[in-house]
Amino acid sequence: MRVHVFVAGLIIAGCISSLTLGQSSHSNPWAPTEGGPLPPIASLTDGVWLKGDLHVHSRHSKDSSNNPEAKIISFSESVGMDYLCISDHDNHVGGDVAHYTWTDPEFKSNSVLLLYGAEWTTTRGHGTAISARPYDHQRLYDVRDQRDVVIGAVKKELGIHLSANHPSGKDHFGFSYDMVDSIEVWNSAVWAKNANAIMIWDDMLSSGRKLTGRGGSDSHHGTPDTPEQATKNSYQRKANYVGTPTTWVFAKARTLQSVVDTLTNGRVSVSANPYAPRVGFYADLDQDGKMDVMMGDNAKSTGKPVNFRVQLAGNTVSGASYTVRVVKDGNLFSSLKATGGKTTMVEFTDTPAVSVRTYYRVEVEGPPTAYPQVPDSMALSGNMVGLSNPIYFNFDPNF
Ligand SMILES: [Zn+2]
Ligand SMILES: [Zn+2]
Repeated sequence: MRVHVFVAGLIIAGCISSLTLGQSSHSNPWAPTEGGPLPPIASLTDGVWLKGDLHVHSRHSKDSSNNPEAKIISFSESVGMDYLCISDHDNHVGGDVAHYTWTDPEFKSNSVLLLYGAEWTTTRGHGTAISARPYDHQRLYDVRDQRDVVIGAVKKELGIHLSANHPSGKDHFGFSYDMVDSIEVWNSAVWAKNANAIMIWDDMLSSGRKLTGRGGSDSHHGTPDTPEQATKNSYQRKANYVGTPTTWVFAKARTLQSVVDTLTNGRVSVSANPYAPRVGFYADLDQDGKMDVMMGDNAKSTGKPVNFRVQLAGNTVSGASYTVRVVKDGNLFSSLKATGGKTTMVEFTDTPAVSVRTYYRVEVEGPPTAYPQVPDSMALSGNMVGLSNPIYFNFDPNF
């Protein structure tokens, strides 16, 4: 016993002496500084909420079944999706024009904005390239085994939004997060398997990376036209399909470019399905009762208390209890209750430290919302209603 106490004492003494040493003789050139002014906050009202799915496989992916693009697109139209990214696996590289997702005559819709995307499928994991216009995916594919700085430069030249897919588990994203603009923090209807993805996201946010969290169903399988066409995976159609989960973006306009820009700027939330409530997250910086920023925005802290508001829009259950978990800098800050009603809302106050990088984000649990077109998804998402992107303070816009 005495020996243990002695050893612990030595360790503590060691920590103190190295801390003291560090403070006296070293100044970290990379330490956050006061920094200049931040870009102005965009309007909180001048825009439109658009919903969609960013990770869907059609028949042009070899691991998909019974899922022609026409089937995916007409389904998306029928459930009111505003945008869609069909993200087949590098299918149109190496001259394989027969499996070119975007030149398929079925790649068209009158109501759904169709993004140009592909799942970048590499030895070190998967990402989704997302673009408002056709780009040369062959170049991204060719550079996949090079150093990350080289890949990052090609990505920049292509002008695409690159997103890390299912970052933990099989085909985890084994690249630097410095070359991506967003991360798939909610993959498929099975919410519970995303815990590690959320942990990675919090690590990236806590280290100063302003990285948007997004969802993606990663659905592969459609309804067979005849019983003979059924595969061992056909059951998935009723459990995980377009919209499980649904990613909401507050776009400046109903255009492809606005959707991509919003995915980058982070005015984004994710809901269990297209009919589940949408999570809104706002803050009043000067206590005048008027909200000044929303999720994705980056503001300077003033040392005065900030009033935060979490609001659920859409189909909440009247009288039901919703749990709002507030995460501050990667740790649970508080757990609040909101009651479903005409306005389902809860507020909290905190004072983010002056000149210190801080972020707040929320996760909401409550009664599941039925999604009759994908009936088995409800059980897989459980009580998870939705999550917000962070509201940021003092993040370096030039990081
Ligand atoms: Zn994948
Ligand atoms: Zn996929």
